[in-house]
Amino acid sequence: MKKKIAIIGSGIAGLTLANLIKKESDHEFMLYEKLESLSLDDGYGIQLSTNSIKILNKIGFSKINDKKIFHPKGVDFYNIQNKKICDLDLTQFNTDQNKYTTLQRSTLIEFLKDDIYTQHLRFGKKIKEVSELKGKVLIKFEDNTNDLVDIVVGADGIFSNTRSFFEKKKNEPKFKKAVALRIILKTKSELNIDEEKISLMMGKNCHIVIYPVNQNKELNLVSIIRDKKYDPDNIKTLVNKVVTQNSNLEKVFEGDLKSWPLYFTPKILPSTNSKVFYIGDAFNGFLPTLAQGAGQSIESAYELFNLIRDDKAEIQNTYFKERSRRAKIVKRRSNINFFVFHFSSSIMQTLRNFFMKFLVKRKSFVNSYLGIVYKN
Ligand SMILES: Cc1cc2nc3c(=O)[nH]c(=O)nc-3n(C[C@H](O)[C@H](O)[C@H](O)COP(=O)(O)OP(=O)(O)OC[C@H]3O[C@@H](n4cnc5c(N)ncnc54)[C@H](O)[C@@H]3O)c2cc1C
Repeated sequence: MKKKIAIIGSGIAGLTLANLIKKESDHEFMLYEKLESLSLDDGYGIQLSTNSIKILNKIGFSKINDKKIFHPKGVDFYNIQNKKICDLDLTQFNTDQNKYTTLQRSTLIEFLKDDIYTQHLRFGKKIKEVSELKGKVLIKFEDNTNDLVDIVVGADGIFSNTRSFFEKKKNEPKFKKAVALRIILKTKSELNIDEEKISLMMGKNCHIVIYPVNQNKELNLVSIIRDKKYDPDNIKTLVNKVVTQNSNLEKVFEGDLKSWPLYFTPKILPSTNSKVFYIGDAFNGFLPTLAQGAGQSIESAYELFNLIRDDKAEIQNTYFKERSRRAKIVKRRSNINFFVFHFSSSIMQTLRNFFMKFLVKRKSFVNSYLGIVYKN
């Protein structure tokens, strides 16, 4: 039966769901975004592993301009002094069609907005009130417009406002006591890294990830630094925590540095309303240390879409069961990585490096740690 769907939030999760509905079903839908436009400034880079590329290819991602994306062949692990520890081959998860991909977030948003923008996206929309009417959900927006729908999908990010209208139980995101810094590098500067790969440098209470985001060899650098509180006016102190460990890094932090505090969702909770679903960070916000936030946003949109398209009974239970299973796998690994990448004691670092060298070459370990995430 044809359904009417309201998607709240036009990030990666909301836009992916919109594309799937538009391209593969007859359901009616509208995306409601609180901002006045899509943020299309370059933004940070995004890594998409094969689990999400496989889904994006269903909505035409394989036709994207090759110059705007990159397929890194592996990850090189270094200590913060830029001394190589070991490497991981990422091509082992690739197929001809589905390859590990890096790109700028704006490139992905541009692609996802193409078929949606004119007819299916409304800006400046914030929910004011919700109620049930004749078995449907009536959404009233702050600009005094409204919509009566069969399904509401909260895709409004980790601080989901949609949740506050439908859920009594609070699940407030928690500050991880860490801050992310991001910059796009035009050159690798004085670093001794392979620009065709993802480079991960692990230091005391911090780590750095550098990877190409297109064929122009522009490099995205993200550094995660542990810090008890977030002070956007004192980024220099954070940078110092890294560059005192390797002065060659001073140059890479020069330029247009952006920062943001890292939050995570403490619990994975189901929706309590059978007509309301959460996807992407609104379902669960992960730490970025497995590079799966966007990937899981895409996966969750796809899982929900399949259930709606096939008009499955018990959609709510089925969705939550599968989504929470996947989220737990990713959450556990993101948390382990966060812990392991930031050891401050040199004994722990030596032990970690020893085990990493051994484990990255063990197929059974790599498959159970990453294959399970990437192959889905
Ligand atoms: C440092 C860092 C690095 C990362 N690197 C990677 C990576 O390499 N790979 C990866 O897969 N992921 C990565 N991520 C995570 C990834 O970016 C996010 O998980 C993903 O973008 C979440 O998408 P989303 O659509 O759920 O939410 P969002 O992108 O937060 O989008 C939510 C949308 O909803 C809108 N909105 C908010 N409130 C309302 C409201 N009340 N009403 C209407 N609209 C609203 C917002 O304006 C926004 O447009 C990283 C994250 C960080 C912090």
